[in-house]
Amino acid sequence: MPIRIIPEICNGCQFCIPACPYGAIGMEGDKAALLENCIHCAICIDSCPVGAIIEAGESGNIEDAKTYRNILVVGEVSGSSLTGPTKGLLNKARDLAGAIGVNVWVAAAGINESIRGEIISSDANEVFDLKVGSADSYNTASIVKAVSDIIEAKRPEIILFSETPFGCDAAPRIAQRFMTGLLSGCVSLEIDIAERILYCKRPLYGGRLMAITSCPKHKPQIAVINRE
Ligand code: SF4
Ligand code: SF4
Repeated sequence: MPIRIIPEICNGCQFCIPACPYGAIGMEGDKAALLENCIHCAICIDSCPVGAIIEAGESGNIEDAKTYRNILVVGEVSGSSLTGPTKGLLNKARDLAGAIGVNVWVAAAGINESIRGEIISSDANEVFDLKVGSADSYNTASIVKAVSDIIEAKRPEIILFSETPFGCDAAPRIAQRFMTGLLSGCVSLEIDIAERILYCKRPLYGGRLMAITSCPKHKPQIAVINRE
């Protein structure tokens, strides 16, 4: 898969330059850039501390987008339980999954057997331990890679995050990686059952107006939920 460097995320630290065995990364101004001799081997991806080097996804292709199914909740754990916002996400995911007849999957860092049991007993169909520490001591690049690996393998059509520091950090990077849209600040979430399109309602101007946003042509649809 082709490699890209996202200039909006790159901070110019240059850690990636010595990581490339082919000398294929240079600087354009204060941003890193791939040179013509890049062979897209992906070795440099993990050298970037902020997740600016990505494998360009295919989800911009509408035919490819049709192959995405099911809902992934990227949750958070506190102590020996899911956090309150993650439980709220699970409730919303179950509602959406019931409406369109799909499964709910949960991915989180720090899952033990007790938490796994808690998730399964709340009607989730599959649980993924991200194996990158806990949500309050994670490394952004490693968690983005861990979630992206699940997305590439399982192809969920909807991904839900809570509007927490973790969710606000990880969700935009994953949306960039898969070249899809991000529905942020959602205070309510509805789905068009026939078209399988999410509609996110978010307040503007201190709540005096409500905007409705959607991501109709790309998958996965990624939403960051403020409260549900
Ligand atoms: S993808 Fe491979 S060749 Fe291209 S810049 Fe990264 S390490 Fe170098
Ligand atoms: S390591 Fe990442 S942030 Fe640093 S220059 Fe390279 S691409 Fe940019």
